[in-house]
Amino acid sequence: MLPAANVLCGAKLRICRHLLQLLRRLACTCPYEVAGFLLGRVSGSTLEASVAVLGCNVSEDPERSFLVDGRTLYRVVLMSERGGLHVVAVFHTHPAGAPFLSGADLRGMEAWPTVWLVVGCGGVGAWAPCGPGVAWVELEPVLQGCELVESGCSPCPGRAIGNASSAPRSL
Ligand SMILES: [Zn+2]
Repeated sequence: MLPAANVLCGAKLRICRHLLQLLRRLACTCPYEVAGFLLGRVSGSTLEASVAVLGCNVSEDPERSFLVDGRTLYRVVLMSERGGLHVVAVFHTHPAGAPFLSGADLRGMEAWPTVWLVVGCGGVGAWAPCGPGVAWVELEPVLQGCELVESGCSPCPGRAIGNASSAPRSL
């Protein structure tokens, strides 16, 4: 379930501070793009992320692109339907680049019209489709906790980062 298109223009994304810190750390330490989805609720023009699902990046060129594995996608759809949650954002890291949307990200946004959160080592940015273009999304880091769901693979293969368990844990 994706947010309605009219919510995305001028939207604000509330995200738990610890998740942002984890993603920043991954962007700084993992040479591969790390990607996943944020699930949560929509309240007016505020999107409140409460669950983060880290995917496995199965792209053939994971240093410059990402492709989330089908199992994670299926899990996201089930969690969204069963929990009545929206997919409030797609997130991924840019290990060697600035936190801006690439051409591939813009094409991805057409397939997943929700907020796109891009995390670089030096900063984060968020955008959403708005009319024929793309609008900047305000990020509001919050102190309240969130749940992290990993997908049975290390978010950074070959590196001792993250947790290969698929049991949810609180951040
Ligand atoms: Zn990107």
